[in-house]
Amino acid sequence: MRDKVGRPTKLFDQARERLAMAAEYLSIDPDVLHKLKYPKETLSVCLLVRMDDGSRRSFKAFRCRYDDTRGPTKGGIRYHPAVNIDEVMTLAFWMTFKCAVANLPYGGAKGGISVDANKLSRSELERLSRAYVKAFAHFIGPERDIPAPDMYTNSMVMGWMADEYSAMVGQPSPAVITGKPLALGGSLGREDATGRGGYLVLRHLESDLHLKPENTRIILQGFGNVAYHCARLLHGDGYKIIGLSDSRGAIYDPDGMDPLAVMEHKRAVGTVCGAPTNGTCKEMDNNELLLQECDVLIPAAMERAITDQNAHNIKAKVIMEMANGPVTPEADEILNKNNVVVIPDILANSGGVTVSYFEWVQNKAGFYWDVDEIHHRLESIIVPETRNVWSIKNEKNVDMRTAAYVLALDRISSAISAHGTKDYFSS
Ligand code: NAD
Repeated sequence: MRDKVGRPTKLFDQARERLAMAAEYLSIDPDVLHKLKYPKETLSVCLLVRMDDGSRRSFKAFRCRYDDTRGPTKGGIRYHPAVNIDEVMTLAFWMTFKCAVANLPYGGAKGGISVDANKLSRSELERLSRAYVKAFAHFIGPERDIPAPDMYTNSMVMGWMADEYSAMVGQPSPAVITGKPLALGGSLGREDATGRGGYLVLRHLESDLHLKPENTRIILQGFGNVAYHCARLLHGDGYKIIGLSDSRGAIYDPDGMDPLAVMEHKRAVGTVCGAPTNGTCKEMDNNELLLQECDVLIPAAMERAITDQNAHNIKAKVIMEMANGPVTPEADEILNKNNVVVIPDILANSGGVTVSYFEWVQNKAGFYWDVDEIHHRLESIIVPETRNVWSIKNEKNVDMRTAAYVLALDRISSAISAHGTKDYFSS
């Protein structure tokens, strides 16, 4: 489906446009693009779950393995009422490119259940999570497809899922899933990995982006796990956090705020609103926050937060995408014209999957690293890949997103071509 000016309206079709865009800068065999046009496999099921009152309810659930040429597929499981097949396929597509940008030996996948997890009891949530694993047991596996947490799933959910899978295969199988509690084979450093990754990317690009911590004002949308850790680390290095939001509202204080104190308040009352700041703080609608004066805007909530409706009014010079797909392709065009640098999701939030990869490696080896080793290994992956993306951006005179897709597509294409393309078979 396309809009009035011929642009695709479905999230998945929009995502695939990035592929065509990156291919223009590489000499890629058409076989490669053909293979990447559709997911390898997508499974949609109905989970029938016993509720606490004795009734049974059905939930739509999905898993998509997009491409596994570079290794087993990897991607989170999301619990959200809006989860649908288009979204799951898109997120799996993005994971394929994210794993390639970070040069991890993985393909991409994603899963989800259409559910409002807040409306279930803990026992119902456990039964639903175990039902998911029963339905997808033949689809996932430590050498096949390795899930992880995403929105509204957490380490306890991952622990239930690993336990259910282990019971089904008759042996402990921690490497089937990452993001587990530490006591069940989780990795140190996973909790803050995504936020830390974004922090490392921004710090590495400081001189390229002409940023000085003490003069840089930052707004973060979606003060959950990712935004909190990113804000905490940037604040610790002297950056000024001036705006934070969640699903219930936003706070904006040009004099700056302490993200640790705001999180303490949010944990106590469930929202950033009313948090203690310097007294110059204003409360506002969370969409309004995106349009306030700042130097760096960090969307870390949902897809499509910045669209052609609000992109014209963004005042930030840099946008770092910590959520997946927060900037739409139409918004990208506007931001590029306005010289706003967008650090793309497939680079900026790749710290999470990188430490998930470390968890999988440790589970398979049965040997666990200390937190310093995790931090060091994360930095030694994300910093050089950030430099690679920045160099491609300059070499090809493209925006950072195109550069990241060029880097990823080149790697995926080499792997697909290594199985032989038309040129090999016809010469
Ligand atoms: P989370 O559930 O911990 O936090 C999400 C936050 O966004 C919550 O505070 C929620 O209130 C807020 N929110 C929802 N709608 C909002 C809106 N319209 N305006 C402002 N705030 C809103 O989730 P998270 O783990 O921090 O993930 C955030 C984003 O980062 C998601 O898009 C996720 O897919 C992406 N991501 C997460 C990881 C990870 O490791 N957690 C890795 C890669 C990408």
